Amino acid sequence: MKLIDGKQIAAEIKAEIAKEVAKMIDDEDENPHLAAVLVGEDPASQTYVASKEKACQSVGMLSSVYRYPAATTEKELLDVVSFLNMDPEVDGFIVQLPLPKHIDENKIIEAIDPKKDVDGFHPANVGRMVLNLPAYVSATPFGIMQLLERSNVETQGKNVVVVGRSNIVGTPVSILLSRKAKTANATVTLCHSRTKNLKEICANADILIAAIGVAEFIKGDMVKKGAVVIDVGMHRVKSDKTKSGFKLIGDVDFEEVSKKASQITPVPGGVGPMTIVALIQNTLKAAKKEIYG
Ligand code: NAP
Repeated sequence: MKLIDGKQIAAEIKAEIAKEVAKMIDDEDENPHLAAVLVGEDPASQTYVASKEKACQSVGMLSSVYRYPAATTEKELLDVVSFLNMDPEVDGFIVQLPLPKHIDENKIIEAIDPKKDVDGFHPANVGRMVLNLPAYVSATPFGIMQLLERSNVETQGKNVVVVGRSNIVGTPVSILLSRKAKTANATVTLCHSRTKNLKEICANADILIAAIGVAEFIKGDMVKKGAVVIDVGMHRVKSDKTKSGFKLIGDVDFEEVSKKASQITPVPGGVGPMTIVALIQNTLKAAKKEIYG
């Protein structure tokens, strides 16, 4: 079994981005700039935004965070989005989800200028991705695709099973892998909570992608010997073996599944670091006007 080292691959991509950023600054005096909008005090969201800021800084990009209280109204947030859409200093921005319940997330996402939508959540970017047109692809699926590509995992003609059909992970990754493209061309089965015979379907996968949100859901008997397993799940659970008293685990029972898989992503250090780096890559694309010209 070989570990797919997301941390290492993300570091390689970051080094490549840092070179491009330095060149942009030298040649054009242009420094890519990512802004993040954070509403409320959700600790997980604060951590995600902090790691996005840190990643930007590590490659020499500018980053800024716009913080607002949980009581911010939908209208006020729409005004912030409108301001960032117009700000020529900002190449791309994200509105960190989830938003407080009184704000309609779809309304906010649809208000973002698709040209600056580096999270790739706007319907224009999702539609372009489905049509195989240049688009900002949302960070986790984009990160998974690069993880497979850079680990030389053959996808053409393979049976891929994706468990989980969320708009941000399962559905887009299933579309990306079934597209007519050199690093795709897979036969994809998309599973969810109503899928029958899930165990049998998973056990037929050459590549199994778990994006379920249930800790250690995928067990050894659900995996074919030699399969490639990508674990998207992230769960913080108590542990008496770590200093912090917590550890991160995934949607895959690593102990059991690593005995059968040919390649597998660990948690932490698999998909997580790739998600952050993919956002930074989208920001660079925005600064270079690669998608929309
Ligand atoms: P989500 O929106 O909760 O979607 C979960 C999906 O799993 C749904 O489609 C659901 O089916 C399906 N599901 C749930 N229970 C199931 C079962 N017993 N059998 C089969 N399918 C089942 O989750 P998400 O946002 O995609 O996230 C999935 C996991 O990835 C979470 O652990 C999340 O924390 C993690 N995540 C990690 C990253 C990263 O960067 N590493 C990024 C995003 C998410 P239905 O549609 O029928 O309800």
